[in-house]
Amino acid sequence: MNRRMGTRLLWAVLAGAAADLAGLGLIAAAAWLITRAAQQPGLAALSVAIVATRAFATSKGVFRYAERLTGHDVALRAQAGTREQLYRALIPPQRPRHGGADLLSRMVDDTEAVQDLLVRCLLPAAAAALAGLAAVVIGLTILPVTALVLVAGLVVAGVALPAGTAAAARRWSARIAPARAALAGRVADLVHGSADLAAYGADEEALAKALAADESLAALERRQARVHAAALAGGTLVQGLTVAAVVLLAQGAGAGSVATAVLALTALVAFEPVLPLAAAGERLAGITAALRRLREVRSATPAVAEPARPAPRPEAPLTVEIDDLVVRHPAATTGTSAGASTRAALDGVSLTLTPGRRVAIVGPSGAGKSTLLAALMRLVEPESGSIRVNGVDVRDLDGDDVRTLMTGLTQDPYIFRASLKDNLRLAGPEASEEELERAVREARLDGWVKRTGWDAELGEDGRTVSGGQLQRLALARALLYDPPVLLLDEPAEALDEETADRLMGDLLDVTRDRTTLLVTHRLKGLESVDEVVVLEEGRVIQRGRHDELVSVPGYYRDLWESEVLTRR
Ligand code: ADP
Repeated sequence: MNRRMGTRLLWAVLAGAAADLAGLGLIAAAAWLITRAAQQPGLAALSVAIVATRAFATSKGVFRYAERLTGHDVALRAQAGTREQLYRALIPPQRPRHGGADLLSRMVDDTEAVQDLLVRCLLPAAAAALAGLAAVVIGLTILPVTALVLVAGLVVAGVALPAGTAAAARRWSARIAPARAALAGRVADLVHGSADLAAYGADEEALAKALAADESLAALERRQARVHAAALAGGTLVQGLTVAAVVLLAQGAGAGSVATAVLALTALVAFEPVLPLAAAGERLAGITAALRRLREVRSATPAVAEPARPAPRPEAPLTVEIDDLVVRHPAATTGTSAGASTRAALDGVSLTLTPGRRVAIVGPSGAGKSTLLAALMRLVEPESGSIRVNGVDVRDLDGDDVRTLMTGLTQDPYIFRASLKDNLRLAGPEASEEELERAVREARLDGWVKRTGWDAELGEDGRTVSGGQLQRLALARALLYDPPVLLLDEPAEALDEETADRLMGDLLDVTRDRTTLLVTHRLKGLESVDEVVVLEEGRVIQRGRHDELVSVPGYYRDLWESEVLTRR
């Protein structure tokens, strides 16, 4: 938090305290006025109290308004700052360490904790402390012993009780959070897996499990609510006992009725800002947990280190040299062979992409094909070996710069809930109409665009997009972005035979003369690429032109023959 925010926060605390003090003054002055008026003195004797009562009543509202205004201003600024930091932490497209839904909830709920911390906990606590102090001072000046009782009561209601509720809330949330996650998981299964559940007659059982999860969550929440209610009642009880004690002490000490009334009502009002602190303590447990999660995201170590050196200009022809590359993914935490280092995902791969050259990577699943693309896009850090673009090691370049040079079709392209045009524009915000038209034409998407229109809404709830259209849209994006080196990861994955064939045919057409690295499991058409590299368990087991590879026994020829066979 910077100094300006600190000053704003101070103003908010002062305004809050002033509002509480005005409330206190209002009651003290009114109590004095009423009891004194009952003694029927001359009007002159009451005039100061009358003016004071009016002034306190008016200023209380003004101060409260000022507190809300400045307090929320600070809180919303702090929340916006936190969101910004979070966005920044997320910008490097590292492999996400948190799932999408989890991250979304951090973005929305957890950053609101920052606001709650200020508005619901810190500000009220500070204002309550100041108001309590003022009430104690009033007590001290009238009858010191009542001040002692008041301090004791305020400490119990304002410190002990909130500390208790905070501790209880931590314990409860440790039990409720997993129960809620379990329910969310069951419900997600029901929603997303409904077709499979129905197909295998498992829907009744899944529904029963969801209901059971719901019931156990509800039981926990009911018990938590009971504890919550008991804490709030406890606060009111302490307030009542304190006021009663003050009255008894004042009467015992022979204080007059005016002084007794002032002391009693001051004590009563001093509790008003203190009582909500028990609920604030309860909220604090959730807030600290949220802040801890935010810190986790912000401090997640980037997957790659990024010293920045100017990257080669994107327009320049690029040569990419991969030399003896070894990449090892961090061992999964749930691995069975704990301690043992994992097998290298890439183990000594060398490859050169000169301008205009097209290389296809094939190999069984798990061979390391995606890892190679990830290393090129600087999403994973190699253990040894090097990747150089025009002679510069990518480790010396900024990851974002590297991705302006080498990027392309991701394995799982995403359609945003936006118009078709905006979905394309993602890859070229400045693109002209002609450039958009060309990308669409090259991706052979022009027929579809003509039918649906540029403004057709896609994505969730929008028009459904077929697998083939999705891949072509992704291809159009890549063509629009037009990186010097085009990376294509399994573009025909999950498409039916005919669609896949057409897509691959078009793709091989349009990438002619573009520097391209194509990961694929379909060999048809690969006779047009310059080199095919066969990976297995992270190593290059075969490489050469398609014709050469089909003429010698090995993985490639087997795959080719089985592909030809299944084609009829
Ligand atoms: P392919 O794309 O050829 O199917 P990958 O590059 O995805 O292969 O995977 C190569 C190896 O690295 C596999 O053994 C896989 O389990 C492992 N691997 C891939 N990504 C990760 C990751 N993020 N964390 C840990 N291991 C991974």
